[in-house]
Parts: sequence; C-alpha cells; structure tokens
Amino acid sequence: MKYASQKIAILGAGRSGLGAARLARLHGAEVTIFDEGDKAKPVEDFPCVLGGPARDLVVRPGDFDFVIISPGLDEHWPLPAKFTTAGVPLVGETEFAFNLTDMPIAAITGTNGKSTCTELIAAVFNGCGLKSVPCGNHGMSLSEVVASGVRYDVLACEISSFQLETIRNFRARASLWLNFAADHLDRYPGMAEYFAAKARIFENVTPEDVAIVRAGESVDSGRAQRWTFSAYGEEADYTYADGRFYHAGREIGSTAKLRVRGKHNMENVLAALMTGRVFGLEFDAMLGALADYEVPRHRCELVRTLHDREYINDSKATNLHALEACLRSQERPIVLIAGGKDKQLDYSPLRAELKGQVRAMVFIGEIAQQLEALFGDLLPCRTGADMAEAVSLAAQLSRPGDAIILSPGTSSFDMYSGYGQRGDAFRDAVAALN
Ligand code: ADP
Repeated sequence: MKYASQKIAILGAGRSGLGAARLARLHGAEVTIFDEGDKAKPVEDFPCVLGGPARDLVVRPGDFDFVIISPGLDEHWPLPAKFTTAGVPLVGETEFAFNLTDMPIAAITGTNGKSTCTELIAAVFNGCGLKSVPCGNHGMSLSEVVASGVRYDVLACEISSFQLETIRNFRARASLWLNFAADHLDRYPGMAEYFAAKARIFENVTPEDVAIVRAGESVDSGRAQRWTFSAYGEEADYTYADGRFYHAGREIGSTAKLRVRGKHNMENVLAALMTGRVFGLEFDAMLGALADYEVPRHRCELVRTLHDREYINDSKATNLHALEACLRSQERPIVLIAGGKDKQLDYSPLRAELKGQVRAMVFIGEIAQQLEALFGDLLPCRTGADMAEAVSLAAQLSRPGDAIILSPGTSSFDMYSGYGQRGDAFRDAVAALN
C-alpha cells in the first residue's frame, strides 16, 4: 500500500481521473475528485467536488499529500493553481500510473497518426501472441489499465504533449516520434513550447531503449538507439515505396493483404512494424496480424460513392499537416471542405499544395471568411452556413471522377462537440444526397 492513508486530490472527472482514483484507492489513498465543469458527473462512489463548489474551492497547505492532474487540464489553470499555490505537489496522471507498473511500454507521440499507430501496434502484438492494449490518450487511460490488474506483455500507450508536460520518470522501451507540425497554438505560447513538451518523450530513455523517429525530424532522441522510417523517399532505416516495405534496402513485405490505404498510413504501419521488431516479432507474422485492420473512423474514410464521386470523411484532420497528408494520399481531383475553429494556424503553405489537385473549396465555421480571403484568388471558393449546405455546394462544384473530402484542417468546437460529431454530420449530409 504505497499511499496508505495519504490524501490525494484528483483533477478532472474523465477517464484519466477515474483511472487515477481507482489506482490511488488500490494503493490505500483517500481520494477526492475535483472538476470545475458544470457538466461534470460523479465518478463511481468517489467523493467528488464538481462545478460551482470546485470553482469556489479553497486549498490550504497540508490539505492533501499530492494532487494528480488529468491531461485535459493545464497546470496553470485556476483549479490546479489553487493546489500548487498551497504547496501541494502536482503529478500528471500518466506519470502517476507509470510509477505503479513494471509492464513494458511502447509510447507513441506525434502531431498526427498517434491513434492510428497506437491501434496498429496493439493489433500487431495481439495478432502475434503478445498481449497488448491501446491506452493512454487513446481508449483506456494508463491508470485504468494499471488499476485493472490485467497483465499485458506490452502497453501501446498514446501520449500527447499535454501528458508529457508533467512527466518525471516516464520512460518507454520503444518511444515513437511520428512527425511534428504546427498545432495546439491555442494552448501553447508558440511552436517551441509545443515541440519541447513532445520531445520530453525521450527525456529518460537509456541505451537499451529504441527511439523510432520519422526520417528528417530534428528532434534529439537522447541516449536511445535511433531507428528511422519514411514513406516519402527520404534516407531511412525502414522505408515504403510502391506497395512494399523495406529494411536497410531489403524488402520485408508488401501491402498486398492490407486494407489500410494512403502513404501517411504506410508511415504508421512502418512505425508499428519497427515497434514489433523491438520486441522480437517477425515481419511476416506482423503483416499477417494487420491484414484485417482498418483505420478508425473519420480518418480519410470512404463514406459513399455517388454519381462517380467519392465522398471522404477526414474530420479527424484537426490541423494543416493532417489535411496535407490527406490531399497527398488522393489520386482524384478534389473538392475540399475545410474550416472550423480559429486555432491561429497559418494556412498559407496550403496554397502551394492545392495547384492542379484541388478543383474548388467550400468553407465552414469560424475561419470560413479568413480562408476565402486566403484562397479566393486561386480557385472557386464558397462558404456553407452548415454541413448540409457545404456538402451540397461541394457536390455542385464537383465533376464525375472527383473526390469530395471533408478535411477541415482545424478543430470543430465552434460548431460541434468534437471531430466525431462533425464527421457524423458530414456522413448524414452525404447520405441525404440523391
Ligand atoms: P492523432 O491521434 O495523432 O490525432 P489520428 O490517427 O487520429 O492521429 O489521425 C489524425 C489525422 O491525421 C487524420 O486526419 C489522419 O488521416 C491523419 N494522419 C494519420 N496518420 C498520419 C501521418 N503519419 N502523417 C500525417 N497525417 C496522418
């Protein structure tokens, strides 16, 4: 009972908070959960302080032994600050769980592809007879997994910059750096801070660990062995070209049996295969394990073919880098539906990508006007008041043989509860076309 009769505060009543509460209680602690949100709901039978009372909370020195913060919260926000100002030590949920397990971890970070790659890795391991689970920032929180008491051979743990901000000892046997591009500038003062938070994934690695890094990335992977990958032709240890995967120039397998499509996803597959190699798995077996795997919904997902047009839902593209990856993975001319919340991202680099491939653009959301002003001189641009209108405008602007793609390039919170609801709105609007 590592925390016998210690008083632990937990901030955030979501999955991370729930897992941390269970885990802390398992180790003997007295737990209270705090969440300032008015929609926050009580968590199991744990004492909870929610909404107004959490906002009015006064924390005195000595009230708690320490406080665990969920990754959705920023330690500088008022609630966490009340604890730190009172001198209560603060620990991140991921770090907390990490210190209570000895299960080997494959940790996945990057601007895009984390969820896909996390699932691919779990599928590779499970298909090859090593028990694994996708967790962390995707699916169960790390605390939930550790609290469950189930023994896994390898945890496939997606880890966001927000989780990395509060690590101390966290370290993985395989640490994956998928890519880096501008994002979350609404939470970080600038790119440098966002990069620095992510780069902490390598802070505690040792020479026995492996850093799996996209070729050309300028990140320092510390003391780990560095293995690189690329599907875009760069020099790398592991590469992909024309339907085949290579290691050190030797073919190790092909996409023949895979259902996963798109070059960016081939980088995710490469990274998953390399992770399997760290744990001694064979390429053939790994590719076999991935044969039935399909990428999760809302990620370059073909929704419908109608009048010789493909309708593709890439609602999960919440930054410019994901949008560009989607455009590059298409062979058809495109009518692009983009826009949403203003995350202060710079969309001007997209001008160079549009030429030749994008026939027209339809904008939605808070940044619609800004995007019309940016692209209006290049190609036909329209704005839709809602998703139904945007889809109908895009259909009108398209020709037979085109792809009509929702790849917003930003988040959805100006109009929707999240990318899932936005993607569903697109699917509904497409289903309603005749
Ligand atoms: P994350 O969990 O990092 O947000 P997802 O797997 O959910 O990643 O994918 C997010 C978006 O990024 C989707 O639009 C997807 O098509 C795109 N994407 C997936 N993998 C990559 C990659 N390796 N490089 C660039 N874009 C990617």
